[in-house]
Amino acid sequence: EQTICAPLPVLGRDVLVPLVTGGEVTYAALDYAASAPALQRVWDDVAGYAPYYGSVHRGAGYLSQLSTDLFEQSRTTVAEFLGCRPDDQLVFTRSTTDSLNLLAAVLPPGTRVFVFETEHHASLLPWRDGEVTYLNAPRTPREAVDTLERALADRAPYGPALVCVTGASNVTGELWPVRELAAAAHAHGARIVLDAAQLAPHHPVDIAGLDVDYVAFSGHKLYAPFGAGVLAGRADWLQAAEPYLAGGGASRRVARRADGAVDVEWHSTAARHEAGSPNVIGVYAIASACRALTEAGFGALVAREQALVSRVLSGLAEIPQVKVLSLFGEQAPRVGVISFVVEGWNSSHFAAALSAEYGIGVRDGLFCAHPLVRTLLGGEPDAVGECGAPEAEPGERSLNAIRVSFGAGTPDEHVERFLGAVA
Ligand code: PMP
Repeated sequence: EQTICAPLPVLGRDVLVPLVTGGEVTYAALDYAASAPALQRVWDDVAGYAPYYGSVHRGAGYLSQLSTDLFEQSRTTVAEFLGCRPDDQLVFTRSTTDSLNLLAAVLPPGTRVFVFETEHHASLLPWRDGEVTYLNAPRTPREAVDTLERALADRAPYGPALVCVTGASNVTGELWPVRELAAAAHAHGARIVLDAAQLAPHHPVDIAGLDVDYVAFSGHKLYAPFGAGVLAGRADWLQAAEPYLAGGGASRRVARRADGAVDVEWHSTAARHEAGSPNVIGVYAIASACRALTEAGFGALVAREQALVSRVLSGLAEIPQVKVLSLFGEQAPRVGVISFVVEGWNSSHFAAALSAEYGIGVRDGLFCAHPLVRTLLGGEPDAVGECGAPEAEPGERSLNAIRVSFGAGTPDEHVERFLGAVA
């Protein structure tokens, strides 16, 4: 924990309330599920490389060659981190949202998509122009598998099909039965994409071991900075489709035809979907984070995080006004992401108070998962803004929630301060 994590001192004027702990002013960032602080090791690697970056796949010059090498080595590092099969393709994108929209753009014509209504909007919405079956929120992991199996069987026959599922919920932190869902999908000839945005920072993701066809995740939740993400998986759909973005880098050969039009031959490698100058630094940072996590070992990270999960759940259980949100039951396995409401409080005001009075940064709102939050709270969330917090009068029933999330580098003191503040 100490060797790979950045300290989180108060920086600048944005931090409203300094709490003094051990003589130091610290800000408790408990919003890892939104974006995790980049590891010190990642900043160091990026700082080491920053003076030397150049444009990739373009130049004959030394810096360009070096950057191309590092960019492609990063691809190999991330593919190894994900346990990719030898013929998988790994495309660098901007984020999970971008990755899933890319996959939606390359689906063969007529692909039927199956998606649970509980997904983050990034996994729920990219398919909406096609043939989509939205599946009701299950109340147990077994029910998730049964629901999917029934839907796949009921809709048959169909041509190409894709199931989209999240590995760990960004609202409840609960783990979904990915391996079983993948087996159900494959039994019906469908493919499956894993939204690993919340899973990858907390658990090893093994494409081959889980037997999923695609995986998407974002660097900024995996202890790297913003701006780069990943889509990895089966090459055929990616290679057969038109490029996600048309432009330089994606095209192998462009020529005017006799009739004056332009003919294009696109690359069949990952470059096909990476047009334009890629985010070399962001990609390098993701690879650095993957190396750091692999070296730290997920065993140690998971053990530490699970201790914090237990502490937060047992601490919150002692506060009678707090209700922890859960689809599969409070005892269900989850990553370090916990949402709750507090009786008599509007969640936005509560979160604002945690920030202003205790120097604790949590998230409030609907977490870009409106249907799920609606199911969990048993009401109609009054959404203002896509992911934002609805306004409510003090004392009004909460139709939004508070989310606390943590990970590598969260000190005990932040969790204790949080529990004390909520109490
Ligand atoms: N899926 C899940 C489960 C998420 O938690 C998030 C981010 N909150 C996303 C997708 C989207 O990630 P990004 O904003 O990096 O595209």
